[in-house]
Amino acid sequence: SQKLEQSRRENRATFSFEFFPPKTAQGVQNLYDRMDRMHDFGPSFIDITWGAGGRLSHLTCEMVKVAQSVYGLETCMHLTCTDMGKPKIDAALKEAYKSGCTNILALRGDPPREKEKWEATAGGFRYAKDLVKYIRDTYGNHFDIGVAGYSEGCEDQEDSDLLIDHLKEKVDAGATFIVTQMFYDVDIFLNWVDKVRAKGITIPIIPGIMPIHTYAAFMRRATWTKCHVPPAWIEALEPIKNDDVEVREVGKGLVAEMCRRLINAGILHLHFYTMNLAQATRMVLEELGLTPDMETPLEKPLPWRPSLALG
Ligand code: FAD
Repeated sequence: SQKLEQSRRENRATFSFEFFPPKTAQGVQNLYDRMDRMHDFGPSFIDITWGAGGRLSHLTCEMVKVAQSVYGLETCMHLTCTDMGKPKIDAALKEAYKSGCTNILALRGDPPREKEKWEATAGGFRYAKDLVKYIRDTYGNHFDIGVAGYSEGCEDQEDSDLLIDHLKEKVDAGATFIVTQMFYDVDIFLNWVDKVRAKGITIPIIPGIMPIHTYAAFMRRATWTKCHVPPAWIEALEPIKNDDVEVREVGKGLVAEMCRRLINAGILHLHFYTMNLAQATRMVLEELGLTPDMETPLEKPLPWRPSLALG
């Protein structure tokens, strides 16, 4: 596409935003307003997550429809296998199709809140690769299909080499792009990318970037995902932990520097976990010079697919 060519020429990174369905009607309206404003930053696409265990899943479909057809945002719908028999999967895919959505992030899913371990649903799918294959078999090439990648292990599998074997199975089943878990250690990530490439996986790898909103949230998420935080980050943030404004300012610099290293390594698409908030993500994008300005005004959106990402 034209945009891809332009990015390649300018070595200018593209980016996308992840949102999740809010719990209240007011929250949904606020998020629509924010999505509309964040449209002006120029994301290539946005994601809407699928609630654990199908919680708020009707809202995911609804938000995909609004983002895609009302706000004209290229949208990627997350879809999981948790508590989803085939009829529910079919209904969700049909909704996405009818909304004009052409991108699905196919996941196994987290266990429902009340359960500790994940269990397959009768008549449903066991692994994300089964869902990928089903979408491919049912819809041909209509959907770009993304899958999750774990550079630092995941909840029920810490062996990152075995996870790469499982990632390869998802790609062989028909996935066309990979979105990774959040991370802060670029060396670990790039080392993992090398291993993924060595396995013969060639589709784009899109890194998940979590901007820093507050020190408490930063530490909570890093602990929860068990991702390695470089000691220099703690040294920079811990002394100012009670000053949210300062934490966002210093955090912006740290996250932007990490993004620069990724861009220099040829990872030219950044996926931001916005946590439904605009400010910290905007600050990082501005620091990277990726928001539109007089010299690089917002382009008229061109058809874009996550599998066009460079990286
Ligand atoms: P899979 O790739 O199917 O792997 C699940 C487990 O099965 C792993 O332990 C894997 O090693 C193992 N496995 C896979 N294949 C085999 C095999 N052949 N033999 C034996 N074991 C195998 N969760 C949500 O509920 N909603 C969301 O919207 C959501 N969005 C996400 C977005 C991203 C970018 C990421 C990284 C995660 C997201 N998650 C979401 C979380 C995800 O659902 C969980 O991490 C889940 O535990 C694993 O999902 P998966 O798609 O990676 O599963």
